Order: sequence, then structure tokens, then C-alpha cells
Amino acid sequence: MADSAPDHGPAEIERLRTQVAACTACAALPLGPRPIVQIGAGARILIAGQAPGRRTHLAGRPFDDASGVRLRHWLGLDAATFWDPAKVAILPMGFCFPGTGPSGDLPPRPECAPRWRQPLLDALSNVRLTVVIGRHAQAWHLPETMNLSLGNAMRDWRTRWPEVILLPHPSPRNASWFRRNAWFEEDVLPMLQTRVEELLGDPPT
Ligand code: SF4
Repeated sequence: MADSAPDHGPAEIERLRTQVAACTACAALPLGPRPIVQIGAGARILIAGQAPGRRTHLAGRPFDDASGVRLRHWLGLDAATFWDPAKVAILPMGFCFPGTGPSGDLPPRPECAPRWRQPLLDALSNVRLTVVIGRHAQAWHLPETMNLSLGNAMRDWRTRWPEVILLPHPSPRNASWFRRNAWFEEDVLPMLQTRVEELLGDPPT
């Protein structure tokens, strides 16, 4: 950002955060609205996830579950850094727990991303790496990859590096995928961890 251009991001983020916290747009949520986002104007890493699960809804902070443990390991972050909004923004495609269906959690509520997520993204000016997790976030951030399998879309990760990276969902339910795709741990994670370390050790310009 040029020196002469005032950064309206922090005030806009605060304004939006207040509005999001009071949002009741989705009346049919089984546990009621409880928007769970993490955002700070200085965040250099954006985690673009799916929607809070039941456990996250109850805990009140994102990725406070087994998936989060694995994600923090992948990123090389301790819990304090991961949950520091000045460093890491976490904006799922839907901010509230959408409920469960016959085959797991329901998709993120579709009204949330255009109503809240896009304005919040617009106010984030310091993000240098977006970590995309799950098909819904993939469709939003990487629509050109949606005709590929997750594995093939991920194998092409260097074409989007170092601004964007697509990850598998870190859920324990994907353990067999992790075992079948050792290249992910061997090739991708060291690069990812190095990049995260660089970004968080390098103050925003
Ligand atoms: S999912 Fe989004 S739009 Fe729906 S109630 Fe929660 S914050 Fe509001």
C-alpha cells in the first residue's frame, strides 16, 4: 500500500466483525447462530476452510479439534500463534455450524460468503498466503481446479505457489488419503512450513 493511502482495513474489519457477531440471517441452524471467525488487519496467512463443526461451535474458536491439531502440525505453528488474529486469519465459507446430515456435516450456509466473507476478505490487505481447505473453499478460491480430483489439483500446487495452496481436509477421516499420498508430507509440507515461518517472521510492509 502506498504511504499516502490510508489503510481503512482495521476499522472496516471491526465494523464487520461487530455486524457478523450479531448476524441471525440463517434461521434454520440447529444450534443457532454462533459465527466463528478469526481476523486481524495484520494477518499474513488466511485459512479458508469449510464451516465450523459441532465441536468447534461448542468450543467457540476455529479448529479447536483433532483437525486443528493436524493443521497446526502441517503449518508448523504452535497453538498461540495459530490462534493469534494478528498473524492468522481464519475465514470459513460459512461462519456458523450448519448441522449434520446422513453423510456428515451439511455444506456451509450459502448466504454467508457473499454477505460477510467477501467484505472481510476485501478488508484484509496483508495476506500473502491463502491456505484452501475443502471443496467449498476450493470452488471459491480455485474454481479452475474443480474439474480435477483433489489429488491432481494438489499435485499442481507449484503453479499457485507461493500465494495459494490447496490442502486436503486435515480431518482424521482422511487418514487413508494421507497414507496413500506420502508425497504430500514429503514434498509439500516442508515448503509450506518454510513459507509460514518466513511470513510470520517478516513484518507487513
Ligand atoms: S452462517 Fe453466516 S449468514 Fe448465517 S447466521 Fe451465521 S454468520 Fe449469519
